[in-house]
Amino acid sequence: MNQKDSILIVEDEKNIASLIDKSLRQAGFRTIIAHDGERALQLARECEPAVVVLDLMLPKVNGWEVCKSLRKDSNVPILMLSAKEEEVDKLYSFSLGADDYVVKPFSPRELAERVKAIFRRTNCAYTCRKTKLSFGDLLLEPEKHKLTRNGKPIWLTPSEFVLLLTLMSAPGRVFSRHELLTKLYQSSDAVVARVVDVHIGKLRRKIEGAPANPRFILTVRGVGYRFAEKEEHRDS
Ligand code: CA
Repeated sequence: MNQKDSILIVEDEKNIASLIDKSLRQAGFRTIIAHDGERALQLARECEPAVVVLDLMLPKVNGWEVCKSLRKDSNVPILMLSAKEEEVDKLYSFSLGADDYVVKPFSPRELAERVKAIFRRTNCAYTCRKTKLSFGDLLLEPEKHKLTRNGKPIWLTPSEFVLLLTLMSAPGRVFSRHELLTKLYQSSDAVVARVVDVHIGKLRRKIEGAPANPRFILTVRGVGYRFAEKEEHRDS
């Protein structure tokens, strides 16, 4: 079974699952439904969905565990659904590799819009940009969704990939947190700005030799981040 353009809905409350199912189908997606975490992991591997809509509170294996497990070998975009609206829960979800977060109760139509946005963003990041980007020992190949350092592959989540591509495409240009957030989410008010810091922290741990003393992604105090320019790189 191969349904590369389908959305995997993971939700134990059957009425909510069918509401999401209906709105995603209306938006033109094919859907697959799992009612618990174990089944979700199984279906994610069998069907290779384009996006996973993942509820947090699930029987057997909870959403965070599912997210962690998926992230071991998959870069499928993950949208978390949760009744928890605490900032710390959102940040924890993002630190596990989630790409978006929607708080319950939500409008099914808004959810479908968010899924569409994730779908477009990740597809475009991988295919709209043909040129390879290189900097020092880093090589980013957008079309292949591939990052290597010294020829060794580094695995990135879709959000980390979009952020790195944005920064690396314009070395030296300063991006505010808000600007980076809008690259990640259509409406940034739903997501806290510190999410950008969480993703940048993870990116640095993956690409920098010494994350506390970064060479590639530099902090611009009080504003945001920028990618290093060639000259600085040679000096360091
Ligand atoms: Ca639930």
